[in-house]
Amino acid sequence: MRAEIRRAYRCPCDGRSHRQHGRVVSRRARAVLGELAAVEKLTGSRPNACPWAGFYDPEVALVLQAYDFFLEGQASEFWGNDPPWWMVLAVRHYHRVLGRVRADAIKLARKKSEELGPRLPPGAVVEHRIQG
Ligand SMILES: [Zn+2]
Repeated sequence: MRAEIRRAYRCPCDGRSHRQHGRVVSRRARAVLGELAAVEKLTGSRPNACPWAGFYDPEVALVLQAYDFFLEGQASEFWGNDPPWWMVLAVRHYHRVLGRVRADAIKLARKKSEELGPRLPPGAVVEHRIQG
C-alpha cells in the first residue's frame, strides 16, 4: 500500500518511485492524484514529491522556523535586518497559501455540516438544562 502511494506521488524520497514509468491506477492512487489536483488548485503549484518530503528539505525547515517568528512579530530576531530575499518571499507565500488552505477547510466543514441535516430556524435558541 505504501509503495502504491509513493509510486502515485512519484516522489524521489524512496530512491526509486520517481524512476518508474507511469502511475498506478488503483483507487488509492487516484485519490492521491485528486489530492495533488486539490493542492495545485489551492497553492498554484503541483507537488513533485510526497507531502512529507518537504520536511526533509533544509530550506523548507528554515521557512517554517522563520514563519513562527513572523507570526509573533519577531521576524527580524530570526533573520536579522537584511534577510535573504528568497526567505521573505517564501514566508509571504507560505502565509498566503496557509490562509487559502484554512479558508478552504472552513468551507468544506460548513458544506459538510449543511449536508448533515436541517439547521435551526434563524433566531432559535437551544437551551441546556440540568435537572435533578
Ligand atoms: Zn516522498
